[in-house]
Amino acid sequence: MKCEYLIVGGGVYGCGLAWQLTSRGHDVVVLERDSVASGSSGGPGARGVRAGGRDPRELPLARHAQELWPSLDGLLDGSTGYRKTGGLTLVEREVVGVRGGRVSMSARAWVQNRAGVETHVLTAQELRELEPHVSTDVTHALYCPNDGVATQEATTRALASAARTAGARILEETEVISMTWDGDRVATVITARGPFDPSRAVVVTANTGSAAVVGHAIPTWRVVPQVIVVRPTRSMSIEHLVGHDSRSLSLKSGRDGTVQISGGWRGRWNDVTGRGEVDPAVVSQALDQAVAVYPSLADAQVLTVDASRDEACSPDGIPIVDLLPGSKNLYLAANWSAHGFALFPAVIESLTDWLCSGKRPEILEPFAFGRFPIASPARAHRPIFVVP
Ligand SMILES: Cc1cc2nc3c(=O)[nH]c(=O)nc-3n(C[C@H](O)[C@H](O)[C@H](O)COP(=O)(O)OP(=O)(O)OC[C@H]3O[C@@H](n4cnc5c(N)ncnc54)[C@H](O)[C@@H]3O)c2cc1C
Repeated sequence: MKCEYLIVGGGVYGCGLAWQLTSRGHDVVVLERDSVASGSSGGPGARGVRAGGRDPRELPLARHAQELWPSLDGLLDGSTGYRKTGGLTLVEREVVGVRGGRVSMSARAWVQNRAGVETHVLTAQELRELEPHVSTDVTHALYCPNDGVATQEATTRALASAARTAGARILEETEVISMTWDGDRVATVITARGPFDPSRAVVVTANTGSAAVVGHAIPTWRVVPQVIVVRPTRSMSIEHLVGHDSRSLSLKSGRDGTVQISGGWRGRWNDVTGRGEVDPAVVSQALDQAVAVYPSLADAQVLTVDASRDEACSPDGIPIVDLLPGSKNLYLAANWSAHGFALFPAVIESLTDWLCSGKRPEILEPFAFGRFPIASPARAHRPIFVVP
């Protein structure tokens, strides 16, 4: 089968890129080994859409993504579930050292405001006006009014639907097995369903599957973020996307009154089943952290615990968006390091600009392969570099 652009992976990136490219008149095929949103871009609960607290190299993308998110619903075939809730990072105590505490928060607010990400430092009283149920131990907060939440599975399906409407062919249950090369260009992408011949470029958005697809050593490790959804038994609400300065904690409310607890808690990867598994010890630790900050969550009823979705991370915690070293038409967009969802509208727009113009947009420069010392040529067929 022939096409202009071939995309590997039917997550929020693969479907989003297909939507952007087809909207600009290009002929696109997406190959997904399972089904749309079967990876990190699916599963229970919602995702944080925040610019607050991000690596400074990501702030320009994060700011632009904040601008794009509110208009997505009107452009896609379906709702993203996006809500601009505002985001809070809570400070409970002064932390000695280079990171944490109120002074560090002020410095972060300064950096974010300079990058165009509106940020305020709140006193305890100002915070309690926004979040009346937060613990009295919380002394300050960093407030980003333009942060929010959205639903990952609904967003990915809405993107896939809009891409199909615009002419993209999204083929599910079609795993990419290998590629053939003509000099420094991928010539053919091989699947069990037969070969695909892209005339312009191949873009790999296969998350933890990317290294196997590109046959290149990618500095990556796999994490299995664990999400808990609870129903409070006491009267309470959490109005914002809430994170914490010194605790591993992220909280967000669903429209149905449930509360999602996550924030760096991880399940276990099972190599035999090839699936993530819930770690019960981690569940109780995460619940303890949540109750310490929102005491009304004590006795909350646990509805769901999920650790089925794995995510590729970079050693420096920011993604790789680049041409593979040694290749002229094989692009990688991966290693979102557990925060790719919030950034996606800005990344797919910039990457589409790059694919169509041949010129890398400045906003994507920090995400080059060149920052790692191990950029070996493509076609080395070396396995994923997994750090457990
Ligand atoms: C529990 C959890 C919580 C998160 N919370 C947040 C958050 O609050 N905020 C935020 O911004 N981000 C968050 N993230 C991260 C975010 O969801 C991801 O970065 C994003 O969804 C990645 O999208 P993707 O399209 O790159 O990958 P995926 O959605 O994983 O898509 C990759 C696809 O490639 C397919 N594939 C793999 N190999 C092949 C192959 N050989 N052939 C064909 N197809 C293949 C897979 O089946 C998969 O469907 C979270 C992630 C998880 C798991």
